[in-house]
Amino acid sequence: MFTKIKCGKLYDGVTPRLWKNKEILIEDNVIREVGYGLPEPQGVKIRDLSDLTVTPGMIDGHVHPQFFDYRELYNEYVCLSDGYRALATASCARKPLMGGFTTIRSMGWFSEAYELDVKRAIEDGKIEGSRLVVGSHFLCTPGSAGDSSQSLSANPYLSNYLMKMCPTCGSGADFFTNVVRREKKMGCDFIKNFGSGGFATPCDAPEDIQLNDSEFDAIFSTAKELRIPVTAHVYAPVMMKKLLKYNIFCMEHGALMDDETARMIEGSGVYLVPTFMPYEDIVNPNEESLSKKSDFFRRKLEKYQRRLQEGREIIINSKIKLGYGTDIVDVYNNYESGWEYNCWLKNGVDPFRALEAATSINAEICGISDKLGSITPGKLADISGWKRDLLKDPDALRDCAFVMKDGVEYLTESRI
Ligand SMILES: [Zn+2]
Repeated sequence: MFTKIKCGKLYDGVTPRLWKNKEILIEDNVIREVGYGLPEPQGVKIRDLSDLTVTPGMIDGHVHPQFFDYRELYNEYVCLSDGYRALATASCARKPLMGGFTTIRSMGWFSEAYELDVKRAIEDGKIEGSRLVVGSHFLCTPGSAGDSSQSLSANPYLSNYLMKMCPTCGSGADFFTNVVRREKKMGCDFIKNFGSGGFATPCDAPEDIQLNDSEFDAIFSTAKELRIPVTAHVYAPVMMKKLLKYNIFCMEHGALMDDETARMIEGSGVYLVPTFMPYEDIVNPNEESLSKKSDFFRRKLEKYQRRLQEGREIIINSKIKLGYGTDIVDVYNNYESGWEYNCWLKNGVDPFRALEAATSINAEICGISDKLGSITPGKLADISGWKRDLLKDPDALRDCAFVMKDGVEYLTESRI
């Protein structure tokens, strides 16, 4: 079965330009040819997208599909049944696909997680959804940014009880050796740890050190033995430097970046997924949006405003290999992956850098660049089409008009 797509404009995921009137020939689920005047084998289906800009299926590199509603973040895992949470996770994996994001990198959750079940159900064709690359649980210590029972710390009995719901929250080298092995056994694609504190948590601070050296040694040496990549939630430059010594593969956030650390990351080739969205309202102050955030989140953002602004500038002006990830935990819902593009463009990032981050670079971060991330012969047919001007309109990735995953077309849904 052949499909030929006629593109108005085409961004191929690698070359910083838009090609006019190129065509893509797909056989079943694989891209066979890209060019002009391509053959039309017998029975070929023609898809005329000459009014759209066509790109590789977008990849959101930082999503929490188990945060169902940003207004109820800290109640969901207490108030909802396991069954409801599994269904809601499936819903949060389906919506990005309808918005043109054919792959999401799932950054996991605190208590027992359902991303792996949802991933398998999608792969088995039981349900529709984006392709999932999964780091299932937060590897974290009590009271750290990954310990969501922080929100109930005023009730120690309940808080301690809930902390036990997280199989990867604990202390000591042996504990973390075991949890890395467990995560690998369950089928995780990567390991996510919380080495330093957070902004969106009530009891800690972004520069707190939350894993000690023996715990890091255990995580990194076990992951290396099991050949599973490691990424880390991190803000403090001192912690970013430490993670480089462990030959970490990727880092998340890095929002308090300084010049010296940026130069070190550039030289290392380590990826950074900067997740601009959660800090946008303080970097470019938006009082109305700030007022919707929890008190502790807003206070921390205000305290670190200057450093967040400086860090943003340093990241944007660096040559660090940036991935694209939304990490939406407030104000918008986690499947609204196009908001991060809005942030990048409004902060003056070259749109081609943002597009490359959301396609070929994110495919490298997800470990799937052999089959996805660009429109190249031999790769899988994950293809999106957009109505708006990708080079000028910050809302362009919120307005999807065509999506194909693995050679199959799906319904789209505008997020405008
Ligand atoms: Zn996150």
